[in-house]
Amino acid sequence: MRKGIYPGSFDPFTNGHLDIIVRAASLCDKLYVAAARNGTKEPLFTLGERLEILKECCQGNGSIEVVTFDGLLADFCIKNGISSIIRGLRATADYEYEHAIALMNRRLAPQVETVFLMADAENSFISSTIVKEVARNGGDVSSFVPPAVVSQLKSKFS
Ligand code: ADP
Repeated sequence: MRKGIYPGSFDPFTNGHLDIIVRAASLCDKLYVAAARNGTKEPLFTLGERLEILKECCQGNGSIEVVTFDGLLADFCIKNGISSIIRGLRATADYEYEHAIALMNRRLAPQVETVFLMADAENSFISSTIVKEVARNGGDVSSFVPPAVVSQLKSKFS
């Protein structure tokens, strides 16, 4: 059984994240989608709000489980027999950060491989940070995020 994990802040969840999940799910027997509990950034959405959206967007696919965890991702992978960490790559700006994290995770858990999926051209300019900025200033984000996130953003900024 090949288990993978797609970790992220998902603050908020975007169509770019969704595309990576759909593609990653086809590569694994089981895919954990893991919302980070304690990132370095102060999130706009609570963990509960982010988990609710992830569950709604992943429902219907029995091989996906939405989770959160405390502590190191590498430890979570070892404990749960996860062999691949999935990450998405957009422009070169993502590369340096992802490179450092992938090498650190390999040191911490050599048996776990980080797999990068190239962002789809349609989604490669979408980031949670930019989506929040557009929504905060009243712009239309409906083509960048699922409908449930449009509503969540509206109620945050109303
Ligand atoms: P983190 O804080 O862990 O970077 P994010 O939620 O910002 O969490 O991103 C999670 C993963 O999804 C990262 O690997 C990121 O590069 C990738 N990602 C973010 N936006 C997109 C997108 N539009 N298309 C493809 N991958 C993306």
